Amino acid sequence: MIKKNDIINLEISDINHDASGVGKYEGMAIFVPQTAIGDIIDCKILKVNKTYAYGKIEKILTPSPSRIKIDCPVYQKCGGCSLRHISYEDELKIKKNWVFENLKRIGGVDISLENIELIPSPELVGYRNKAQYPVGFDGEKIIAGFYANHSHRIINSDTCEIQPDYFAQIVNLILRFMKEYNIKPYNEETKKGLIRHIYIREGKGTGEVMVCLVATKDKIPSCEKLLRKLLNLPYNIVSVVLNVNSKDTNVILGDKNIILYGKDGITDIMCGKKINVSSMAFYQVNKLSAENLYNKAIEYAEFTGNENIMELYCGTGTISLAMADKVNHITAVEIIPKAIENAKINAQLNGITNIDFICDDAKNTAAKLAEQNISFDTLVVDPPRKGCSGEVLDAIVKISPKKIIYISCNSSTLARDIKILAEHGYSLQKASAVDLFPRTSHVETVVLLSKGEIDSKKVRVEF
Ligand code: SAH
Repeated sequence: MIKKNDIINLEISDINHDASGVGKYEGMAIFVPQTAIGDIIDCKILKVNKTYAYGKIEKILTPSPSRIKIDCPVYQKCGGCSLRHISYEDELKIKKNWVFENLKRIGGVDISLENIELIPSPELVGYRNKAQYPVGFDGEKIIAGFYANHSHRIINSDTCEIQPDYFAQIVNLILRFMKEYNIKPYNEETKKGLIRHIYIREGKGTGEVMVCLVATKDKIPSCEKLLRKLLNLPYNIVSVVLNVNSKDTNVILGDKNIILYGKDGITDIMCGKKINVSSMAFYQVNKLSAENLYNKAIEYAEFTGNENIMELYCGTGTISLAMADKVNHITAVEIIPKAIENAKINAQLNGITNIDFICDDAKNTAAKLAEQNISFDTLVVDPPRKGCSGEVLDAIVKISPKKIIYISCNSSTLARDIKILAEHGYSLQKASAVDLFPRTSHVETVVLLSKGEIDSKKVRVEF
């Protein structure tokens, strides 16, 4: 029986859904992060449970053919890019397999691996349009970077391969300003200090940049000086926001936003439409991949132009706006007021008049429309990681759309919901994995579910 601190010889035979390598040793599964299928390693055992154990690489004896040179100095400490040591080609295979296994095992879907399309990210470097840096003090100086893997210890770093290079210059300017004006970073233990996070968002299609400081109070000393310095940078900063978060919480953003300069957030171009995104609203972090995702959803829907559709979890309206000129009418629902404000303005900006944006919990609006027997030809859902709630699924079943386009950043909850919808006659027709998050352990999925004929009791409303 193995025990802590043992060194064992291990061959990695699989990568689990957290992107950790897995090897078998005396009938036990041993999880070893930052390994690749085919690696033969000396593995140091860190923790032993009944049927499985955790270990770390002591020495790579024979490297896997999937391995590539690691091009990030902080890769081992960060844990964000947990697949950075593997070739992109093999990363895509791993991700496709994750989606396949979830659909099959959790969803009970009869689909072959070949029938899942995989759409790679057009960009692998600097693809993100958003970064949130925790700010702290290392005993000597103010630092900003990222949290070490599974902890709240800040690793001081201004490099990140998947973020735009110039974000580091904005961060460093703010750190210098804090030092110069003796502005303290927040300390999670003592709960003292002012600046908690630096949050930057960029519109890749426009070059517009938002800089948001997350602070415990609603004032930053010498704020005008900071603004002058920021606006002197050679970037198109159109928005500087102070977000107030005085709570003892892991949640980054508080509820209150004070605009220090310009507007609240940025404008970007997505699928040819202008999109305003406020600081609080969700926006996909990889624009080019998100466009591939939305275009795949449009392809799956095969719109004829007559459809009345409903979108739940619409955010700033990106998907509905991309679909608007291909259908008759859209009813779109989102819970965050700022996002729905953006969505309404976005419709106006693009001269789109056939979408009703509703600010509500998806379950309430869906239940109300189901109650009124209103029919929709196609339903589009793009929920958060936890998937659709039971109430939303109940309402969807009652609304009984012919087609459901389900977009998900978590293929295990997607598969769970597909299984529930299958009990009500929906079957999976098509599935694509779209890589919105290269080098990390995340992947987006879009599927088409359909049911055939619409329930004849339903009322078609003329919008
Ligand atoms: N489709 C959008 C947003 C997807 S993210 C896009 O691609 O940009 C999921 C969205 O669901 C977020 O905007 C979030 O605010 C919203 N949301 C979360 N819970 C919700 C609920 N119960 N009802 C309605 N919207 C919700």
